[in-house]
Amino acid sequence: MGHPGESQLLVTTMSLPSAEEQISFLQQIQRLFSEGEFSATYKFALILALAELAIERGDDSGEALELSMATVAEKFAELYWRQMAPYQGDQAAAAELLHQNQGKRAAITAPLQKIYAACGGQLALAKTHQDWPSCLKNIARTVRDMPMQHLQVLGGVQQPFLYDYPSSPRSIRLKPGVVFNLRRYQGLVQQLAKSGWVTHVRNNRLNHPIIGKHDDLEVFMFGAERSPLREVAKILAPLQGNRCFYCQERISEQAEVDHFIAWSRYPRDLAHNFVLAHRGCNNDKRELLAGLPHLEKWLRRLELHGNEIGEHLSELGFVVDSNASRQVAYWAYEQGLNSQSQSWLAKGITEPLHHRCISLF
Ligand SMILES: [Zn+2]
Repeated sequence: MGHPGESQLLVTTMSLPSAEEQISFLQQIQRLFSEGEFSATYKFALILALAELAIERGDDSGEALELSMATVAEKFAELYWRQMAPYQGDQAAAAELLHQNQGKRAAITAPLQKIYAACGGQLALAKTHQDWPSCLKNIARTVRDMPMQHLQVLGGVQQPFLYDYPSSPRSIRLKPGVVFNLRRYQGLVQQLAKSGWVTHVRNNRLNHPIIGKHDDLEVFMFGAERSPLREVAKILAPLQGNRCFYCQERISEQAEVDHFIAWSRYPRDLAHNFVLAHRGCNNDKRELLAGLPHLEKWLRRLELHGNEIGEHLSELGFVVDSNASRQVAYWAYEQGLNSQSQSWLAKGITEPLHHRCISLF
């Protein structure tokens, strides 16, 4: 697929990647992490950015996807955002910014850190900051000069299996089949990239005095499922008429904020993905996809109250992108159907995921 010299016609009529092509993709991903050289964390961020954008901007047609450098740079900024806070290791050590490479501070750190400080760590606010566009331009340049050039070098040879290289300075074009594979193997790619990133930061001797013995790096760098959601509950309760999103019964103080698409499937706090539910309902649903009636309701809410929810939650600093939330849900249900998942209806009641779920989007 996508070999040089292949005709355009063949590319546009190409079908989905075969089982063999999928395995070869996975082997190359594996090589990338085992043979690639990582002198900075940029390459982990780039692969994570491409994987997330495959979900938020792509589909399962098997076709190529063109991503502007501006889009990639923004995703990059989001991935580094949490790490712009100083890390507090041992009580004895002073809180300090983690080093993202071996030598002097990574080029993207200073401008991003400045905005982080100015916005009190609120990403939604950062996106309206006057220096945000120039910061993204700066990041785009770094991405082009550094990880984009080096990511696909395996065993010392440029092997462009993810995107065309060299390429236009303004975009990254994911090759046919790549978006499909990144969507299908999202969990695997995310885990490899995140654990690689954490290990890189941990092994960087410049970070040793900062980290000390106390080490909750993974949660610090990528967040935990239970980021403080009390404030979210206060906003969602009146919108849901103080009723559980799933069973419609009244809720009390004990209500919990549930990730409609479970965190374990897609670990990102997107504002529209939150619903308020009984602790019992939430615990029973766990990482299952909510069944057809719930999905119908969630999509209707997105349409009718999406703006309102977005406004409130962006004030709390959550990323608001209703289209991305919708795309993530679409992807999750599609993957669920492919793997013949059960869906959750109510306490103790599940059923095979209904194929109509997909036609709702
Ligand atoms: Zn309930």
